[in-house]
Amino acid sequence: MKVLIDKLYTHNYLSREELLTLLNSMTENDKEFLINKAHETRMKHYGDKVFMRGLIEFTNYCKRNCMYCGIRAANKYADRYRLTIEEILEACEEGYNLGYRTFVLQGGEDDYYGDDLIVMIVEKIKQKYPDCAVTLSIGERSCKSYEKYFKAGADRYLMRHETASEELYKRLHPGMTLENRKKCLRELKDIGYQVGAGFMVGLPNQTNEDYVNDLMFLKELEPHMVGIGPFIPHKDTPLKGEHGGTVETTIIMLALVRLLLPNVLLPATTALGSIDPIGREKGIKAGANVVMPNLSPLSVRKKYALYDGKICTGDEAAECRMCIEGRIKRAGFSVDMSRGDNTAWSRSS
Ligand code: SAH
Repeated sequence: MKVLIDKLYTHNYLSREELLTLLNSMTENDKEFLINKAHETRMKHYGDKVFMRGLIEFTNYCKRNCMYCGIRAANKYADRYRLTIEEILEACEEGYNLGYRTFVLQGGEDDYYGDDLIVMIVEKIKQKYPDCAVTLSIGERSCKSYEKYFKAGADRYLMRHETASEELYKRLHPGMTLENRKKCLRELKDIGYQVGAGFMVGLPNQTNEDYVNDLMFLKELEPHMVGIGPFIPHKDTPLKGEHGGTVETTIIMLALVRLLLPNVLLPATTALGSIDPIGREKGIKAGANVVMPNLSPLSVRKKYALYDGKICTGDEAAECRMCIEGRIKRAGFSVDMSRGDNTAWSRSS
């Protein structure tokens, strides 16, 4: 398998068949070799830097019913909240003072925040903090809406494809299609956003063939960012009795994506940190170079519960900031508070 890993390291490409062979046959030794190659690649492109993004979870209302997600519309136990513009700006101010230069606004698919309101939020943040990047993560909307937010100053958009296998996608997302998800991602990219796709690991009945679909789709889309995290069951969802994803598989996927897309911005996710106390450190050592500490007001932290056992729900933004910085440094990496754009991107391109 080392020959295949070397080939992937050198050419940043493997065929569908080769990827599947790799996933089916890697020994512990091969996995270590893969992770080392992913680390070498990140060092070549970004050095030992880990970029920090301030995450603001501004609404947990959602009209969708994703089977795995704790804030799905049908979950009547979810304690719903929405942040006002003022509350969002306060979170940004706190973040700015802590050194953050990227704000990620994430939420359920909540039509309360129509185009005019999203535009106003983006404009206000950009007016006050012109040196900051604004990232939106609010799911599927029309191309026209995406254009409006971009014109208002939004720089980036995160929307995981979740799984690139039609069948699995359909089972997990009632009333939604993989085709539309992919269409949105392509539109966002064409408009000029730095785009983040990504997938979950360890979904019920997910196979190595499914992971190969994800990896091939990512290679084809060439997003600027890729979010990968383990699936973690939530007690008030239809998948409550299922097993979650493992640290080991998640880390292998991070390493493979680093090698397939050497320039990519790759978060060590909160979900990874939630299933293993040093999960994010393990991710960083396998090629991840972004962390997204929480900036949401303490009063709503617990309510944005996509899965059970989420970490950092009780910590002030300043504590999160210090905690993660210590972790990054102890793991042998350095914190970078700059905007941290993808090295292969410019807004005019
Ligand atoms: N509504 C937005 C944001 C979704 S929440 C959108 O559609 O993009 C952010 C991510 O959390 C999702 O993309 C999904 O991959 C992840 N997520 C949701 N439920 C999860 C669970 N139970 N375990 C792990 N990750 C989950």
